[in-house]
Amino acid sequence: MSDCLFCKIVKGDIPSTKVYEDEWVYAFKDIQPEAPVHILIVPKVHLDSIAKASEKDVKLLGHIQLVAAEIARSEGLEEAGYRLVTNIGEDGGQTVQHLHYHLLGGRTLKWPPG
Ligand code: C5P
Repeated sequence: MSDCLFCKIVKGDIPSTKVYEDEWVYAFKDIQPEAPVHILIVPKVHLDSIAKASEKDVKLLGHIQLVAAEIARSEGLEEAGYRLVTNIGEDGGQTVQHLHYHLLGGRTLKWPPG
């Protein structure tokens, strides 16, 4: 989508601090980190949110989660733990309408989130 912020980040039209990239996925540091490690993992293809995913996206969604675990490992979070979360829609706190997973770690996270 031409006017989508994260599509522009994936394409490199808007700068970001890249953490990981492969054929399907781009991961970068959140500009307003809520934890010592706060990384966003996004599919390169545009998808509004998990609510708009379908059976054809199953492989991509599984891949994103494995990539998240790999990034967490490389960030040294595996032993202490971390959180992987995706916000959906207005009440879910989603502000960017391109599917993204927040990988948060490096401190003790509270539950439930606000
Ligand atoms: O889940 P939500 O849609 O609220 O998350 C969007 C995230 O994208 C926020 O954490 C925000 O800080 C981040 N962001 C970013 N770079 C931008 C714009 C937003 O990392 N240029």
